Amino acid sequence: MPKQSPTDRVRNFDEVALGYPEDLAQEEASRCLGCKKPFCVDGCPVGIDIPAFVDCIVKGDFAGGIRKIKETNALPAVCGRVCPQEEQCELKCVLGKKGKPLAIGRLERFLADWEAASGAIETPEMASPTGKKVAIVGAGPAGITVSNDLALLGHKVVIFEALHDAGGVLTYGIPEFRLPKAIVRREVEYVKSLGVELKTDFIVGKTKTIDRLFNDFDAIFVGAGAGLPWFLEIPGENLNGVYSANEYLTRCNLMKGFRFPEYDTPIKRPSNVVVFGGGNVAMDSARTALRLGADEVHIVYRRSRQELPARLEEVENAEEEGVIFDFLTLPTKLVGNEHGWLKEVECLRMELGEPDSSGRRRPVPIEGSEFKMKADAAVCSIGNSPNPLIPMSTPGLDVGRKGNIEADEKTGKTSRDAIWAGGDVVTGAATVISAMGAARTAAQDMHKFLMEQC
Ligand code: SF4
Repeated sequence: MPKQSPTDRVRNFDEVALGYPEDLAQEEASRCLGCKKPFCVDGCPVGIDIPAFVDCIVKGDFAGGIRKIKETNALPAVCGRVCPQEEQCELKCVLGKKGKPLAIGRLERFLADWEAASGAIETPEMASPTGKKVAIVGAGPAGITVSNDLALLGHKVVIFEALHDAGGVLTYGIPEFRLPKAIVRREVEYVKSLGVELKTDFIVGKTKTIDRLFNDFDAIFVGAGAGLPWFLEIPGENLNGVYSANEYLTRCNLMKGFRFPEYDTPIKRPSNVVVFGGGNVAMDSARTALRLGADEVHIVYRRSRQELPARLEEVENAEEEGVIFDFLTLPTKLVGNEHGWLKEVECLRMELGEPDSSGRRRPVPIEGSEFKMKADAAVCSIGNSPNPLIPMSTPGLDVGRKGNIEADEKTGKTSRDAIWAGGDVVTGAATVISAMGAARTAAQDMHKFLMEQC
């Protein structure tokens, strides 16, 4: 797929990948074998009929292709961009046994973008109104998916979002250069076109508790995400210039700090940035720092390159743009200057020892390997857990060891009557499509409850 060159893109926030033109999309789609037993569909958490939409592309029936996708996926332009297809549908594609799997994600994105460009967004057939009302907590991928499915089934849906804009992690977490916010807005508008109401700046658990929402609703879905950042718990994390990835990316993406002073939110424009972690969020933070004008950006990761949890595509993009990777490196202390601003990071080199409980070889510090890195900003990107506000304000809601809401895997049902949950608030930070898959499961069970018991 065509991309902006690294030298151009590193100084702008425009989307890196430019998408397939029509001829390339059809050429790629024509590689599909149209398998009788399509393993690719088994790999898709929302069960998109992949051979059917790919066949539509081959035949030039792009409207038919996007219609097919939307039967099961309300966010095709988002999923086509940020889903880890290489671990899901494309991993299962039979073409991958002897060569390259079909580029399913890129074809999905092509159709979604074609529909947007055509200006003719279709609304699927909707069931007649049931008279039942459902509240959705959180306008992220899980909340939007449940809303879409329940609205199509005829229920009245209201989404309550804590921030001033919808999209959840798609809006505050993933940068503009990987997922333009206009695309998120477009997909949110589509769900609103189904009659879903969106109330922003509404913090469930503070503005109103879940129990008070039951005065007006028959069932509630909690898709509040995982917005509570983890820190390294080493000395110096309170210094100025040290951010959680959540704060760093929210300032830039949601609050548009990269366009300060046009927008009110400032964001530090440092020279030397160190990002701790090895996932997609770490790659996003490092690449954001480069675009904010940093001279040198390091990713410090305590394991080796093979264990990096980020998508390979994102690691390669970061490398092409000049991010420096320090593998087998452990930060031990953040050191500040006399004014309380970060000036350096103390680290230790590691080596791989015996496998740990995850099956990966455990990194072990090398004695006497201490060294310092110059840094005027650091971004901690080692993970998140769910915000505790809803469990704390909802008696009877069972919560797991890491603060996640416990929900039945097969139904999304929680320990409380008429409350379902899904996505990162249940699993901890995971992928957009797995949140959507859990949301679809919950929507089906909620529909059954609304029609049979409520
Ligand atoms: S497994 Fe691959 S080749 Fe077969 S239908 Fe799915 S995408 Fe096409």
